[in-house]
Amino acid sequence: MVRVQAVAPGSLGAALGLVPGTELHAVNGRALEDFLDWEFLSADEQFVLSATLPGGDAVEYDVERPEGLPLGVTLEAPRIRRCANHCDFCFVDGNPAGMRAPLYIRDDDYRLSFRYGNFATLTNLKPWDVERIVEYRLSPLYVSVHATDPTVRRWLLRNPEAPEIVPQLRSLAGQGITFHTQVVLVPGANDGAELVRTLTDLFELGESILSVSVVPVALTEYSKRDLVRELAPEECRAALTLVGRFATRALAERGFPWCYGADDLYLQAGEPLPPAEWYGDFEQRENGVGAVRYLQTQIAAARDRLPDLAGTRIGVVTGAAMGRLMPQVLAEVAAVTGAQFELVVVENALFGPSVTTAGLLPAAAIEAALITWRRTTSPAGCQGLCAFPTISWTCWSARNPGPPARGQPSRRASSSG
Ligand code: SF4
Repeated sequence: MVRVQAVAPGSLGAALGLVPGTELHAVNGRALEDFLDWEFLSADEQFVLSATLPGGDAVEYDVERPEGLPLGVTLEAPRIRRCANHCDFCFVDGNPAGMRAPLYIRDDDYRLSFRYGNFATLTNLKPWDVERIVEYRLSPLYVSVHATDPTVRRWLLRNPEAPEIVPQLRSLAGQGITFHTQVVLVPGANDGAELVRTLTDLFELGESILSVSVVPVALTEYSKRDLVRELAPEECRAALTLVGRFATRALAERGFPWCYGADDLYLQAGEPLPPAEWYGDFEQRENGVGAVRYLQTQIAAARDRLPDLAGTRIGVVTGAAMGRLMPQVLAEVAAVTGAQFELVVVENALFGPSVTTAGLLPAAAIEAALITWRRTTSPAGCQGLCAFPTISWTCWSARNPGPPARGQPSRRASSSG
């Protein structure tokens, strides 16, 4: 059963009489387990829907749905499939205590992998799940492989029950499913020869493996540091050499690099990032692969639409990782807008200084940095702020009103990234 959370006014769902709280039980007699069942089974132009209204009345609807007309029904959030692994490097386990409860949920959910690109390990799949993946063609899936050697993978996942990943991928691939994969690189465990084996096995699975990213392990101050450590710069360079070797082979045989190092791997290695064209459609950018180049392409694409900001000073907040690259990005925006950008690099006060990603900066640290920046910036010259990544200027300025420039209206620029 799935439950309705909201119904769009004027929609087909509203015309049927569906309201928030309605329980949707079955479509054409097939029980609804979750949002996937609902979306796939109700996609037909005609179906019978069995439901129970909030008052307890059981109803059956003969639904005729003109092609392309959405039902306008939003479901309550699904129950997240929990992770059965216990990786030493788990970022969720690396959270400090006292944060809101959802931040401690370790999800490992193939449904969210399909829908949102969350990486899943496929270690908790039941036969019924596999049938659904094939029936609904949940593809591509995003899969954390880490290592194809079963022993190494089980050790990394701290899960002696983890099924072998290569047969799993091969079986699903044979039924038309494709994958974006990742290897979180843990020094001494799945680097070196193990990385070669993993990349070789994945490459030999053929074109169903759309890409593989190699991502350096990231730890917080609260991670199990007695059991796992970060990569040294020379280990990152060695990994990039292997990535380059497989990318060269893929370019020759498939016409695209296929194997990508995460931006962080280049940054930690002290190596320059590949050009934007290297990343194709940037399909793993949410995983920090090509994210910097993607940002640059977005800025370049928006050049003609950027406003004239001559005379404006704009503070840009970011984490230490992007601190080295942002000057180049900002120079491009400054050249178009005439604004003066001032970079504010913020250390992560929540997870510790080893976490340098802008997206993981806590809002309080961003806010404190902006307040300090504002104090040290002449009000006459400070007409706007641009905060990366998690707090908008509007949000910040509402709590920290500053004086507008004398004789001019205050201008605001906000962005996220
Ligand atoms: S697979 Fe590992 S890293 Fe991912 S949620 Fe589970 S324990 Fe954490």
